[in-house]
Amino acid sequence: MAAGTRFPNLDGITASATLEMSARASALEASGVDMVSLSAGEPDFPTPGYIVEAAVRAIREGETRYPPAAGLPALRSAIAAHLNEACGGAWDPGRILVSVGAKQALFDAIFTLFGPGDRVVVPAPCWVSYVPMVKLARAEPVIVETTADSRFKLPAERLREELEAGARGVVLNSPSNPTGAVYDADELDAIVAAAERHGAWVVADEIYREIRYEPGFASLAARADGYERIVVVDGFSKAYAMTGWRVGFAAAPEPAIGAMTRLQGHLNTNTARPSQHAALAALSDEEARRQAVGTMVSAFARRRELLFDAVEGIPGLVPLRPRGAFYLWVEAGDWCDALGAGSATLCLDLLENEHLALVPGSAFETEGHLRLSFAASDEELASAAERLEVAARRLGGGG
Ligand code: PMP
Ligand code: GLU
Repeated sequence: MAAGTRFPNLDGITASATLEMSARASALEASGVDMVSLSAGEPDFPTPGYIVEAAVRAIREGETRYPPAAGLPALRSAIAAHLNEACGGAWDPGRILVSVGAKQALFDAIFTLFGPGDRVVVPAPCWVSYVPMVKLARAEPVIVETTADSRFKLPAERLREELEAGARGVVLNSPSNPTGAVYDADELDAIVAAAERHGAWVVADEIYREIRYEPGFASLAARADGYERIVVVDGFSKAYAMTGWRVGFAAAPEPAIGAMTRLQGHLNTNTARPSQHAALAALSDEEARRQAVGTMVSAFARRRELLFDAVEGIPGLVPLRPRGAFYLWVEAGDWCDALGAGSATLCLDLLENEHLALVPGSAFETEGHLRLSFAASDEELASAAERLEVAARRLGGGG
């Protein structure tokens, strides 16, 4: 292709760092390297059997045709009922949209609600795809740095300042990828009050809602009756170990759901019908659901302790104990200083020298940090910790 060929809508959009790092790790592994990858956040469990069986049955019964663009009515009803039960609120199927993973629901929401020049607050550290999604909508991301003092949460007064300066919305993520931070009821009330004063949209990514280790979480789904301009995004990838099935959803006011459905009608006619049957099955047997999710969350809880304790003892690394999701957010400024480089270079160093794949803080708009996923086996976590110990002898000034 001629040098200088332009792809105008993708200018300034880099590849997803999480996906890229796990692809690199897989390629090295395929070439025979003994890799440990704590990069992409993907449960290592198989999809629970009761879900798989229902999907196979649906395929055998001919559930293989185009789905409606908004999702199967039965699934939309099941999601509404689940939200009402789990989070509170008065959701009905008309305010639910099924999507190709939470990723698409987020894109649908951001692309539908915001347009050229609109300023959208994204508190950092932030998951890797929010800023590209805002840019794809030709809106303007306003990255607001948060600090360890606020446990990497967006203080409502910072949001108020940005809204007063003209921002039209905010993307919140709780429990957070990468920090594991969780917003409580008072924090959310203050954020909603600020948004309401300015008529701003709150896009709430709650994909890790079910993966929590401490009390104190509150859902924005419960607040949508009091303030309309809230879009809650969630999905089946994480809590149900269903990453490859690609099922997510948005809960939003009906006009927004209508617009997002129009968008999906032109893009992909929604996710595969058998996958929607799998998601429906996931919610249809409450006892099996609780047991499957409970077993996986207990394993994540144990691994959280394992990895936190191991990393806490490594010179130059300071881990933050996550309250939800399955990531350990680690301050690694000393290691960056030892290399005289940023976190991306540090990750390349660890990849090449220790055959350990992690995601750099820079991918989350925050330098001097590393993200370690603990959605991995105990053996992988132990091996990752050993490799970090070896790296510490080069970079941590200890040993
Ligand atoms: N939001 C966050 C915070 C995530 O970590 C991910 C990771 N996959 C997603 C959304 C997208 O999830 P899905 O697999 O449902 O597209
Ligand atoms: N969300 C996961 C992560 O942050 C999976 C990869 C992705 O979709 O970005 O690692």
